[in-house]
Amino acid sequence: TRAHLEAVEAARALNAYVVETPEKALDMARASDARRAKGEAGPLDGAPLGIKDLFCTEGVESTAASKILRGFKPTYESTVTSNLWRDGAVMLGKLNMDEFAMGSSNETSAWGPVANPWRAEGGNANLTPGGSSGGSAAAVAAELCLGATATDTGGSIRQPAAFTGTVGIKPTYGRCSRWGIVAFASSLDQAGPMARTVEDTAILLRSMCGHDPKDSTSLPVETPDFASFCGKSVKGLRVGIPKEYRVDGMPAEIEKLWEQGIAWLKEAGCEIVEVSLPHTKYALPAYYIIAPAEASSNLARYDGMRYGLRVDGANLTETYENTRAEGFGAEVKRRILIGTYVLSAGYYDAYYLKALKVRRRIADDFDQAWEKVDALLTPTAPSAAFALGQKSDDPVAMYLNDIFTVTVNLAGLPGMSVPAGLDAQGLPLGLQLIGRNLDEGTLFSLGSAIE
Ligand code: GLN
Repeated sequence: TRAHLEAVEAARALNAYVVETPEKALDMARASDARRAKGEAGPLDGAPLGIKDLFCTEGVESTAASKILRGFKPTYESTVTSNLWRDGAVMLGKLNMDEFAMGSSNETSAWGPVANPWRAEGGNANLTPGGSSGGSAAAVAAELCLGATATDTGGSIRQPAAFTGTVGIKPTYGRCSRWGIVAFASSLDQAGPMARTVEDTAILLRSMCGHDPKDSTSLPVETPDFASFCGKSVKGLRVGIPKEYRVDGMPAEIEKLWEQGIAWLKEAGCEIVEVSLPHTKYALPAYYIIAPAEASSNLARYDGMRYGLRVDGANLTETYENTRAEGFGAEVKRRILIGTYVLSAGYYDAYYLKALKVRRRIADDFDQAWEKVDALLTPTAPSAAFALGQKSDDPVAMYLNDIFTVTVNLAGLPGMSVPAGLDAQGLPLGLQLIGRNLDEGTLFSLGSAIE
């Protein structure tokens, strides 16, 4: 714990942590020592972790990287983090992220962007660690924690993992309780771990999961011993290659990476099968209707009365307006506007309802694929990490970065990103594995075959 706290302090220039909790960390580490001395160590005893700032942590400022939550110290602990502390993990602090998890580059954070610890060979530009879990990804890659919590609404665990050479898994929707996690788009949000090896993510995920009566979408299912799937033979598994993911303009390097992944899995005894997911091209438009719609509703609670920031006006309405005008950043406002628009009378059927129908079709595509294959392999993102500032003025270019990841959230499926080598500039690239509902085990086996 001490070594990690020192590393965190020495690497403040990355801006990965927004709150450091050294005293709490040392207290937790001492308590863990005491348990170990009594022979009562839990599965994570002494493991120093970073926590994405979307998770409410009791008594520790939790802002979701938004000015509107500045100073908000929850009186409760999220279920996922409680589960981690129950199993002995140690909290080092809270990790930077895009504001309310809206973004793909960690640049929408009210507390400034995070720098990717990786640099292009010969280059000195700061690169994005990806988003929205950019702080989690950078902290794991720079060894500022053993592992981190993250959340994934449309790719926010997997894309940052790919950009930083780390492993991230978004489990099946409902595996991890959403209770105490600041809501972005409730039907898509899911927590998961990031770490430096597939096995570490398996160990962390096991502790994070479990049925929670406080979240009505939490699944009442047993949590398997995910780590027992790591290193298991993948011989005979059928892995699908969805042809629609060969998008126009895909960089040759990403194509090459994919071919490499196919070759590795063939070598390991998998059967490679081409499959079709015909509605893939509608996934991004559907996602960027459904996610903002839910966000506009979830974010209505930030009114200056209940949490964090309050900017007084002459009357109640003005106080609402002032608080929200000052408290929310530009991307969050854009999402609220889009979301409110697609839910309003006259547009609801044309946009929101249509997007829900597309979502159903996308899930059906996957169901058909599962008749032929046990998992799918795709690139995680259409590029390696890009420079900070490169896409920040162009929301559509930014949204396009999510092209391979949003389908998984729309269908509720588990998805993992595994590091799969470096591009010509020496930057990490990731491969994505997608599994059947509740079949994270197969992803852990395939992930460790690629790793
Ligand atoms: N980049 C996507 C968005 O901005 C996904 C974010 C996420 O998964 N939290 O909505």
